[in-house]
Amino acid sequence: MQHDVISYFMHLVRIDSESLNERAVADILKKDLESIGATVEEDDCHKQTGGNAGNIYAYLPGNVDKAPILFCAHMDTVKPGKGIKPRIENGTIYSDGTTILGSDDKSGVAEIMVALKRIVDSGTDHAPVEILFTVSEEIGLLGAKGFDKSRLKSAFGFALDSHQVGELLIGAPSQNSYKAVVHGVEAHAGVEPEKGLNAIRIASEAIAAMPMGRIDFETTCNLGIINGGEATNIVPNKVCLYGEARSHNPAKLERVCKDIVHALESTVARYAEQGARLEMKCEKEYEAFRVNENDPVVKMAIKALQNLEIPYQAVVGGGGSDANIISAIGLPMIITGTGMDKVHTVHENIKTDQLLKGTAFIEELVRVYSEG
Ligand SMILES: [Zn+2]
Repeated sequence: MQHDVISYFMHLVRIDSESLNERAVADILKKDLESIGATVEEDDCHKQTGGNAGNIYAYLPGNVDKAPILFCAHMDTVKPGKGIKPRIENGTIYSDGTTILGSDDKSGVAEIMVALKRIVDSGTDHAPVEILFTVSEEIGLLGAKGFDKSRLKSAFGFALDSHQVGELLIGAPSQNSYKAVVHGVEAHAGVEPEKGLNAIRIASEAIAAMPMGRIDFETTCNLGIINGGEATNIVPNKVCLYGEARSHNPAKLERVCKDIVHALESTVARYAEQGARLEMKCEKEYEAFRVNENDPVVKMAIKALQNLEIPYQAVVGGGGSDANIISAIGLPMIITGTGMDKVHTVHENIKTDQLLKGTAFIEELVRVYSEG
């Protein structure tokens, strides 16, 4: 392992780790964590997820008598994430334009690893550190959900998984997801269409009656996928709808989900006599989290950023992350920026300067906490 976060980051993104396929990067991180003196364990959550690697939990002992602090990042990337070829152009790292870059979240992983390596090599006194590198974050926070969180002993934690260094996400919404299957009746479209009942037509009436998009300042919902139909000459007997709803307010989340269910149920009911039927499943994906701006975890982050003269901003985010799952056990967490930009697209990039700042931020956090 090296002290140069830029080359370490370039090294990590060259290793494929699309969700469920994190094995190669997990093996490297286990070896590197051991090389800095951490005890490392991998769990078997992949038995449930079907992936090829578990979550990596590591403990770096300290010589300051305090509870540990937690740094968390995810090892998986979205697609297309195979054969990433990073290149640096005018101080910014890009992919070759055919894949994502994987700064989401290898920038978080690299900054944590290099910061800890520097702290250990400097020989300065520090509090113990817990490190959690999760799998399959991008496909529903599966690693964090499967991890035995009761083993975490940290006073608070930081999930390195957001944009500009200095950005502090102190809250994120709850999310529900739903799958609805609208059933109609199949028939030959040219010979006897009157014997059919078009499931796509019924579904589209329901969709037109549903809430959609931004509901208010803290609530959103979206229908994202429709699958249905076999051929143009068949009246379709089945269509599947997949969507989600998010809110920072649990009562509003429940309300918007009820409205979606009602739009589907009442529409399908109008065609029930002709054979229409609905199957519907609405599930909680994760709970909202919210940390007070005066909470020690926020104050600590602000102090570290001020010491480094990095501008900061505490905001409430719109996405879910491992922090939603981990903080649910009562461990205060915030999500912090690593420098990643235009994530989940082939235009994803990160400035080398942000990687340096992100690494310095983690070093400073450990120092501020250990001395405070
Ligand atoms: Zn991420």
